[in-house]
Amino acid sequence: MNDCIFCKIISGDIASKKIYEDELCYAFHDINPQSEVHFLVIPKEHIPGAKDIDESNSAVVAHIFKVIAELSCEMQLNSYRVITNCGEGAGQTVKHLHFHVLSGENLSEKLV
Ligand code: AMP
Ligand code: ZN
Repeated sequence: MNDCIFCKIISGDIASKKIYEDELCYAFHDINPQSEVHFLVIPKEHIPGAKDIDESNSAVVAHIFKVIAELSCEMQLNSYRVITNCGEGAGQTVKHLHFHVLSGENLSEKLV
């Protein structure tokens, strides 16, 4: 998608603080962290949001959760929260499926 900022991050046209990348997904630090640790994991395929997950593209979601488990282990996160906002009413501002991973103290009172 030409006008998608997350597609531009994947292509390198917009700079990001990359954590991890493979053939299916890309992980990077959120530019406006809401907790001590706050990164995003996105599919390389442009999927607008959670409502657009279907049989043709759902495998990447399982892959992303596996990657999140591996990264959280490497980063020694004892506990963490995974969030995806779907639709403007739920707070989705970027129309490219993304999973927030949040970790840190006092997380229980916060949602993204
Ligand atoms: P959401 O509001 O759920 O759509 O989440 C979008 C997230 O993307 C927000 O937490 C933003 O801070 C984050 N974000 C937007 N632009 C960038 C960027 N260029 N680099 C890193 N994170 C970004
Ligand atoms: Zn995109």
